Amino acid sequence: LLNDPCLFRDEGVSFIDGAFSSSSSSKKPVINPANGQTIALADAAAAEETQKAISAAKRAMPEWAAQTAKARGRVLRKWFELIRQNANDLAIIMTAEQGKPLKEARGEIAYANSFLDWYAEEGRRVSGMVLAPTQTTKRQLVVRQPVGVCAAITPWNFPSAMITRKAAPALAAGCSMVIKPSEATPLSALALAELAKRAGVPDGVLSVVVGDASDIGGVMTSHPDVRKLTFTGSTRVGKLLSEQCASTVKNVTMELGGNAPFLVFDDADVDAAVADAMATKFRNAGQVCTATNRMLVQRGVYNEFIEKLAAKTEAMSVTQGLDAGCDMGPLFDLSAPSKAEEHVADALAKGSELLTGGKRDASKGSDAFYLPTVVSCGDRNVELRAFGEETFGPVANVYRFDDEDAAIAMANNTRMGLSAFCHTRDMSRAWRVGEALEYGMVGLNEGALSDEVIPFGGCKESGLGREGGVFGIEAFLETKLMVFGRI
Ligand code: ADP
Repeated sequence: LLNDPCLFRDEGVSFIDGAFSSSSSSKKPVINPANGQTIALADAAAAEETQKAISAAKRAMPEWAAQTAKARGRVLRKWFELIRQNANDLAIIMTAEQGKPLKEARGEIAYANSFLDWYAEEGRRVSGMVLAPTQTTKRQLVVRQPVGVCAAITPWNFPSAMITRKAAPALAAGCSMVIKPSEATPLSALALAELAKRAGVPDGVLSVVVGDASDIGGVMTSHPDVRKLTFTGSTRVGKLLSEQCASTVKNVTMELGGNAPFLVFDDADVDAAVADAMATKFRNAGQVCTATNRMLVQRGVYNEFIEKLAAKTEAMSVTQGLDAGCDMGPLFDLSAPSKAEEHVADALAKGSELLTGGKRDASKGSDAFYLPTVVSCGDRNVELRAFGEETFGPVANVYRFDDEDAAIAMANNTRMGLSAFCHTRDMSRAWRVGEALEYGMVGLNEGALSDEVIPFGGCKESGLGREGGVFGIEAFLETKLMVFGRI
């Protein structure tokens, strides 16, 4: 893939109706955030190309949907095999355009591929129902059918997994899909599309349109032939797209922002809590919607927790993602650290204490490097910007609490509801707190939530619907009733 002339041409490309094509508009560079260098151009497709992709998806869908789920599963399985064979190239492409450490990119490719593995099988388990008759002369049958042509808009933080988590169940269900990846990470999306074509996904069933977000999004959300929009990204854009979808009453799935609390009680295993806190905070340089945004620590272990957290944070190897031993790379874009800078400045101005980090370090290769940071906020909380807003960067803000009720109230004091974490050795408390947290996903003495079988998703302003496992295919199915009379 790395030497594929289709992907790395002088002009930026999209993948529409089974072929790479290039729009004539002026293109933006795809920049390696680790060194600021241009690695390719991103296509500048707009309304016309999006319409073309939607028409192709509409044309291609009936034949795809008419195949057996088993036959579609074989194609998805082939796609899975090709991703596995090309995993190293896909990981290098991802690190080059997104910045994450290569070991994380490899992990993401395996995670991305787990959705193909799962849905290649799950498609054949979509079944309907025969209802018990309420009249002797009538029979009622429920069938599940593909929802129709789907549009997907995906972010730059997980450039491959957010595509397969949507495309695998959609294609397994018999839908066709047009994907708009982030302009910052189009190459990972195009590489996946190339492998899908090699696997035998028919032309038009999967297209990738790279270009102007609002032009492409505008067509996707208003086009009458698009029945479903599935989006992963910020709450701000999710609200906008939901509004746009309302005019044609599209089926929508929204995976939006979070503001994850991470509760540590006095009775916790502090070393385990610190290990999970590190993993949930600094993976992908904190640019994860499930990332811990607020560490809430009980008074009795507060000092021990912050000292251990700061020591481990300081010991992290912050280098370019392709370097061996890299624990954390740059943020995804040269201007991305500005939010972390603002949140840290705000917390310090209001009396919080900086324990480590707290600044950019361009000596690592570019302005996109922001050092992993720990801020002790003590008893301050709602007055700090970082308490109410997602930092989406490598800043750990630690807040103190006194008792369980206060911890739950602080944790739920947000409009978001994606993920939450809790460390305690008291299993009754784990159960109570787990139930009380208003979040779609809760990790209890566990920092890793995601895999292909779980229902990934949030409540409140973090989203609508679930992705993954038996839950994720529902989003791509319509329920139809057929009543047989005069029997
Ligand atoms: P993030 O903060 O993760 O970048 P965004 O919500 O800005 O989240 O971006 C997620 C995806 O949404 C990207 O593919 C981006 O291009 C796209 N996007 C941003 N604004 C719009 C818009 N107005 N219409 C359609 N897509 C958009």
